[in-house]
Amino acid sequence: MISEAHIHAFYAMLDSKSVSTDQEEIEPHLHEWRDKFKGSSNLLLKPSSVQDVSRIVKYCNEHSLAIVPQGGNTGLVGGGIAGLESKRAEIILSTKRIKNHIAVDDRDYSITADAGYTVAELETEATRFSRHFPLSLASEGSCTLGGIISTNAGGVHVVRYGTTRDLILGIEAVLPNGEIFSDLSTLRKDNTGYDLKQLLIGAEGTLGIITKASMKLVPVENNITTAWIAVQSAENALDILSRVKEGFSETLSAFEIMPLSGINMVLEHIEGTRPVLEGNHPWYILLELGTSSENTPLQTMLENKLADFIDAGLVEDAVIAKSISERADFWKLRESMSEAQKHEGGSIKHDISVPVAKVPEFLNIANEAISKHFPDARPTPFGHLGDGNLHYNIMQPKDADKATFLGEWQRMNEIVHDITVSFGGSISAEHGIGTLKKGELSRLKPATEIAAMRAIKQALDPNNIMNPGALFI
Ligand code: FAD
Repeated sequence: MISEAHIHAFYAMLDSKSVSTDQEEIEPHLHEWRDKFKGSSNLLLKPSSVQDVSRIVKYCNEHSLAIVPQGGNTGLVGGGIAGLESKRAEIILSTKRIKNHIAVDDRDYSITADAGYTVAELETEATRFSRHFPLSLASEGSCTLGGIISTNAGGVHVVRYGTTRDLILGIEAVLPNGEIFSDLSTLRKDNTGYDLKQLLIGAEGTLGIITKASMKLVPVENNITTAWIAVQSAENALDILSRVKEGFSETLSAFEIMPLSGINMVLEHIEGTRPVLEGNHPWYILLELGTSSENTPLQTMLENKLADFIDAGLVEDAVIAKSISERADFWKLRESMSEAQKHEGGSIKHDISVPVAKVPEFLNIANEAISKHFPDARPTPFGHLGDGNLHYNIMQPKDADKATFLGEWQRMNEIVHDITVSFGGSISAEHGIGTLKKGELSRLKPATEIAAMRAIKQALDPNNIMNPGALFI
């Protein structure tokens, strides 16, 4: 428990809106969307300015009080949940109220905004200036700028625009000693020694609290073509990806795959969804091309390409969205994959990446290993084939006991992660480590890298006040 004396000190340094000890208000901050974690804390701080954050962190550093930063609380690995692992009481520091400044510079193709703005709000502001913020993920209505930077979020357009790291130009953050680090330039080039902002990206709140950032914008894609494509195998999907890149690389903005079993779960559980193509096909691809050039005949070009693929036996069936609402229907099927799986009982999650060309081989080996270990378990992998990133989720057998199945979490993780590493892959492609995967990180990341990470943490946060339960065991 954070003591009354400390709570009193926070009331004295902040306005009353910024402090809460009300358990009813604190409760939603203590669990995530998947309900896998249940945290605890008796103090929620909700500062609205970088100066307030600085005051809070200085005080916490002086008194060795642990802080867990939280943005939109859409992370899926327990990184923003207080009281999970650390032996110390933890304060929740929500950055959602840091939301006073947002500005687009249209000729600089940049946006500078406070950490509490959501991804959807960044896009709305960019659109007002005929610009586009190209990060897109199903949680974009809730996840915040501070959160996407701290997790280096990916999403569905990484194949074209890269991850959050590729979009960042500058960061303002409060370091663990309470000092304000301000590097909010929008420079595209700056080689002046160590680049501290790169350390804060993906640090999951362990090296400081991000309060503001400047990000790249791109031209609005007002000429978009979206196709739903049925294929026999992941191998064929990979071939298609490779050939589409040859002809369309600068316009390819999404290349997602989904298995029939996953689509069937969506159709069964998610209201307002409907099959796009007749019949059953083992895999589906959602392919999107986009450009700002209205004169490029993207749709015709894609139609011709798909006809070639059908002739070559690579594609079983395909359709191009004829309207905005048809495009939205395709995306709804893709975006509902996680939600639909919630209705099918226990699901053991993985967020892995392997070299793109190795995805089909990875799938064969992982599926075989899982079926040997747990014969009726149902691997339902889907995701960003364009980036080699799969959400390799394993659903419980129908009618199995959920708790018994979920008891296999650790063993299944080990099986899947060992195979991933044998392919030179990553055990966390986009969601981060949080508290969920820190055991696996320490088991699988080379000792030299862990030691270097610890040295950085020790140098910046010697009192270990910033998210002490995350990342390291
Ligand atoms: P939170 O969940 O609040 O926090 C995440 C981590 O960042 C925690 O460790 C926290 O301590 C730290 N943190 C938060 N704010 C700050 C700050 N201001 N300063 C320092 N540290 C901070 N992720 C993807 O990458 N790609 C996807 O496609 C994707 N799809 C998703 C779909 C759904 C339905 C859901 C629920 C989640 C999805 N996610 C995805 C995961 C999640 O949305 C991202 O990780 C997102 O970046 C988290 O942002 P947030 O503001 O909610 O952060």
